[in-house]
Amino acid sequence: MYRKCVVCGKRASIVIERARVGFCEEHFIEYYERIIKRTLKRNGFSGGRVLVAVSGGKDSMALLYALNKLKDDLGIEIMALHIDLGIDNYSIESRRAVEKLLKELDIKYIIVSVKDYLGVSIPEAVKFVRKPPCSVCGLVKRWIMNKVAYENNYDYIATGHNLDDVSTYFLKAMFTYRYEDIVRGNEVISPPKPELKMVGRLRPQIFLTEKENLFYCEVNGVPYVDLECPLSRGALLKKYKTLWETALKLNPMSQYNFTRSILSIKKKIQQEEIEIKPCKICGFPTTASDGVCSFCKLREKIKIMKKNK
Ligand SMILES: [Zn+2]
Ligand SMILES: [Zn+2]
Repeated sequence: MYRKCVVCGKRASIVIERARVGFCEEHFIEYYERIIKRTLKRNGFSGGRVLVAVSGGKDSMALLYALNKLKDDLGIEIMALHIDLGIDNYSIESRRAVEKLLKELDIKYIIVSVKDYLGVSIPEAVKFVRKPPCSVCGLVKRWIMNKVAYENNYDYIATGHNLDDVSTYFLKAMFTYRYEDIVRGNEVISPPKPELKMVGRLRPQIFLTEKENLFYCEVNGVPYVDLECPLSRGALLKKYKTLWETALKLNPMSQYNFTRSILSIKKKIQQEEIEIKPCKICGFPTTASDGVCSFCKLREKIKIMKKNK
């Protein structure tokens, strides 16, 4: 099935099951970039200064490559940000791949270390707290991205969240009755709120899968690291991800339609206005009732625990 490119009739190099089409390499690239543009434009994006967060993995590397290629079309000015997490070999390899792509594309960039902001690396931080490593890492990255983007006058941060990630995040939120997680995050676009020192967010790959991002890297010769983060082993989100295998066999559109449904419902429901205020310590936005953001709480806790050691 779908052995031929739907556009030119040449042998297909990739099949997109949910769309029931095959593409040759050239027409896959066209398709991929069309989805990126359409996702942003249909959600009202009209350009601006965009800081692209690159981890070194296939998703964000494909994103950086595509946004750089489409920058005039989209009316954006981009800079890349890589955050060194300090996770041994994984972080060394990631940084190497990122630097390779940045040099090839000649893009402006900033590389920062978690240690510079938090005082310790991610593996050390994880030892001090009782939270899952991915949630500690996530909150630290979000705070650093926002700070760097804000201080360099960027309107948006673009991240490489793909369809597999976002659909699984929603699924897990449903299965664990954490419905606030659905109400809160993962929009295609969150507008900037400069009065709150809050940079906007773009998730241009929300309707593209891991497989498509990987193939986009391969056909364009984009380097990426194919390493699993050693701290994410056993993460719950990964286990939930396997549930899609069955659903996709039953209906290849299931993951795409599920995600679209949730995003549409989110738009329709009257969102309660969550009060966002500046953190008493760092001045960046928080919703915490005590007025101290989770990054500052973590940093304070680590300081105290290091002293008492
Ligand atoms: Zn073709
Ligand atoms: Zn704070």
